[in-house]
Amino acid sequence: MRLTSKFIVSREGEKMRRVYLDYSATTPTKKEVLDAMMPYFTEVFGNPSSIHGFGREAKKIVNESRATIASLMNADEKEFFFTAGGTESDNWAVKGAAKALKNKGNHIITSKIEHHGILHTCETLEKEGFEVTYLEVDEFGRISLEDLKAAIKPETILISIMYANNEIGTVQPVKEIGSIAKENGVLFHTDAVQAFGNFKIDVKDMNIDLMSISSHKIYGPKGIGGLYIRKGVRLQNFVDGGAQERKKRAGTENVPGIVGFAKAAEIAYRDFDAHIEKLTTLRERLRNGIMETIDYAKYNGHPEERHPGNVHVAFEFIEGEALLLSLDMVGVAGSSGSACTSGSLDPSHVLMSIGLTHEIAHGSLRLTIGDFTTEEDVDYVVKELKGIVARLRMMSPLYDKVTGGK
Ligand code: PLP
Repeated sequence: MRLTSKFIVSREGEKMRRVYLDYSATTPTKKEVLDAMMPYFTEVFGNPSSIHGFGREAKKIVNESRATIASLMNADEKEFFFTAGGTESDNWAVKGAAKALKNKGNHIITSKIEHHGILHTCETLEKEGFEVTYLEVDEFGRISLEDLKAAIKPETILISIMYANNEIGTVQPVKEIGSIAKENGVLFHTDAVQAFGNFKIDVKDMNIDLMSISSHKIYGPKGIGGLYIRKGVRLQNFVDGGAQERKKRAGTENVPGIVGFAKAAEIAYRDFDAHIEKLTTLRERLRNGIMETIDYAKYNGHPEERHPGNVHVAFEFIEGEALLLSLDMVGVAGSSGSACTSGSLDPSHVLMSIGLTHEIAHGSLRLTIGDFTTEEDVDYVVKELKGIVARLRMMSPLYDKVTGGK
């Protein structure tokens, strides 16, 4: 099933629209990206560590790709390292900094709404004797800069606060966090997996020391990501082995993946203005369509400081899984939150942190728009969603009680 073919034929022989609104989980690889990758599977297939011509050709493209991505965040090419994705970058940044700086201190500050790539990493470090402060967030999902300042102590070695939240889309005051970290001589890591390609990021201007990014969120291939490490920052290696990535991250480079990642990043910033304009327009159309036609719905995340493609709504008197399955039956792909927590019955830690009750959090739906979304897609989703919510609520005794059966 190709994403570009917008219709599928159902079992009953009817044509049904198919709408993918889960771009924060992953994106399709763009044709331009795939085309750029292809020669690196079959023609330029050498191992970049080999000294012969095949190897040298591969090494050249790896370094050109590194320079492309680094320049898009205003970093030097020597400051950017390829990894196997956002999760590895998060693990490397936090564990690597903690271990390199353990003689200086054992305290890390993060937030309660980070991706599990950070939260579970912090939990592992706590078992090893590190102390972690998990900052609260407000109802929109933002940390307080005053809380951050108050949490810093002489033992603090690292602040890790995400750029844009993967569930509710809220963007943190990254530049201000960077200034606070710098003033206090503490390293600042940001998980920018949802932000890179959707925001203009200048690591120097924002005082970012470490930054995780991932290719498959920006129309590049899966299994490739990167970590920006500011010059002078010491990190313990996360993957030991050969001398790849200037002896910091061992393992034969995923050359086609690296090429695809760089191409995707280049396209993201080449077409940046049109991409943002399109996503925000469709996001507002979707948001308004839902909020104006469905009652007992709560729009989550920050009203302005948010990911351009993120719509997050919690519907009262509804069970999120039932909602997702019903949407799937009419060809609509959404999410209940983080792709990594779906399948679990626990309400999302992000929704709990912004103060939603368990009942409301369970009725939540994340719809994320991307470059292939159309106005017709959005209108179709609004129409179908309205009918599905009404149907599911007919089965809710609580809804009946609250509305008096109207
Ligand atoms: N961090 C955030 C904020 C994410 O949204 C994700 C993926 O959903 C990750 C990290 C993990 O990235 P990857 O899938 O490349 O491991």
